[in-house]
Amino acid sequence: MAACLFCDIVSGKIPAKEIYRDEDFLVFEDINPVAPTHLLLIPRRHIDRLTALGSGDADLMGQLVLTANKVAATAGLNDGGFRLVINCGQDGGQTVEHLHLHILGGRAMSWPPG
Ligand code: AMP
Repeated sequence: MAACLFCDIVSGKIPAKEIYRDEDFLVFEDINPVAPTHLLLIPRRHIDRLTALGSGDADLMGQLVLTANKVAATAGLNDGGFRLVINCGQDGGQTVEHLHLHILGGRAMSWPPG
């Protein structure tokens, strides 16, 4: 497999400000935050993007969302609300080819996204 930035963060080869880790997921601060809280939640297993998911990944993706809820609550985002974003591919704005969920909060978000 080609080198992957987020796999290197999972292994500790590249440092990141870690917020949460369990056997399936890792959460760390985005290096270029676009909101007062901007976290990235990734599966520890390498998955390129949303379209690489198979039917066997349904549980993993359900747990991903539940983990995002838990992390958002711990980060104090429940009262004000928050936004979860998964960019997929070039038009979706995906720049790192390891599936990741953005957890954004701490300010009011606008719509539509740019
Ligand atoms: P996306 O554009 O959806 O692929 O999101 C990739 C995100 O990864 C961007 O928000 C980047 O700021 C973030 N990012 C890139 N390199 C790092 C890094 N070394 N540590 C933390 N976040 C990073």
